[in-house]
Amino acid sequence: MDNPALTQEVTEEELSAALQSKNRLLTFPIKLEELYLDLHIPRAIRRFHVLLPIIIFLYAIIISGIIDFIPKQSFSLWLSIVISVTSTILFAMALSFFPIFNRWIKWYGTVASAIVVAATIIITNLFPIGQNSPLFYAGIIFAIVIIYTCIGLTVIWGLVATILGGLSAIVIMDFTNILVNWSLLGRIYICSSILGLGLSYALENQERKNFLNTLLLRITVKKGEELAKQLDSLSRQDSLTGLANRRHLDEVLDDEWNRALRQNQPISIMMIDVDHFKNYNDKLGHLAGDSCLRQIGQLFERMTKRSGELAARYGGEEFVLVYPGMDTNSAKQQAIRLIDQVARLAIPHPNGNSVSFSMGIAISIPTNETNVAELLHDADTALYKAKANGRNRYELFNETSIVLERPNR
Ligand code: GH3
Ligand code: MG
Ligand code: MG
Repeated sequence: MDNPALTQEVTEEELSAALQSKNRLLTFPIKLEELYLDLHIPRAIRRFHVLLPIIIFLYAIIISGIIDFIPKQSFSLWLSIVISVTSTILFAMALSFFPIFNRWIKWYGTVASAIVVAATIIITNLFPIGQNSPLFYAGIIFAIVIIYTCIGLTVIWGLVATILGGLSAIVIMDFTNILVNWSLLGRIYICSSILGLGLSYALENQERKNFLNTLLLRITVKKGEELAKQLDSLSRQDSLTGLANRRHLDEVLDDEWNRALRQNQPISIMMIDVDHFKNYNDKLGHLAGDSCLRQIGQLFERMTKRSGELAARYGGEEFVLVYPGMDTNSAKQQAIRLIDQVARLAIPHPNGNSVSFSMGIAISIPTNETNVAELLHDADTALYKAKANGRNRYELFNETSIVLERPNR
């Protein structure tokens, strides 16, 4: 049940419908049947291999019992039949050890089984061994029950094998004028066929139900996992703007800080606050305020596309942008672009201008003595400066420029 395709290819509805149908004929719709056989055949063959020592042991008991009672003049004929049947069985058994032939098990298993059934029936009538003949009949019962229950054929192919074997035996015995004890043979053959059929039907019916239930369980577990993933991603998202929330920001900042520390690279943080937003809200209403924050959020989303970059809503009308590997010059250019982009949005502000924001930028090459909280604090300090200096602008916290050293190639 490790194959992921098992749950990708079928829907819960198909499985429920299959579970609810009585399925008396032991078949599923085509796709489900293929999946079932993909799973059933290797499993049935493994079971057969586990049972193999027992089957060989019982076979040996029957053969060794018979061997003593075969009349001398018929011994070589008997032996040649036994050898050819045993070779057929061994050949089919050998094939079962190569998964590449699994697809053909219904063919080679059915043919080999039919040969075994025919041979046991013919032998029973060919060599009159008087009161020891029950051993022959035991051989027929043994062969038929094993074919139905142990060798990995589905019920339908078990049935085909035993009928084919029985009919071939009748035809051969008729052509070769072998005398047949019909009343005993018929009873033994029919009774053991019914027993085998009943056993294998019950077994396969249960197996098919288990298969459906296991798939259903798989799908339920997968759904649960997907739901958990969705919840997890929702728990990192700001519901208004769709940007990362504080929690996600903290995680990304930690990761990027540590990466920058390892790689000795700068990391830039921009703390952004919308200007005069209280006034905007008061005049235009909370809904307009929300829509304005969403538009600004989309702008930030577009401006943080590279790997490692992140735009987060820090709270209220404050945002944080993270730019790993960005030095002072690039950060300045990016800040100018951002301020320019929000102006282009041209969201009218009740104070007569368009909506703008102020930014504080802090850049650092992390060391073991510094930490990311300080960097955030520095960006906040720079933001404060931008507000104090008249808004709609950026300020750098760092006095000295940090230059990105590009690795020598
Ligand atoms: P400054 O330029 O100094 O930043 O002034 P300001 O008015 O933007 O600053 P202040 O912190 O006084 O006001 C922030 C306002 O942002 C208060 C609140 O009405 C608004 N705000 C905060 N969160 C939301 C939100 O989720 N939706 C809306 N519509 N408004 C919000
Ligand atoms: Mg604010
Ligand atoms: Mg503000």
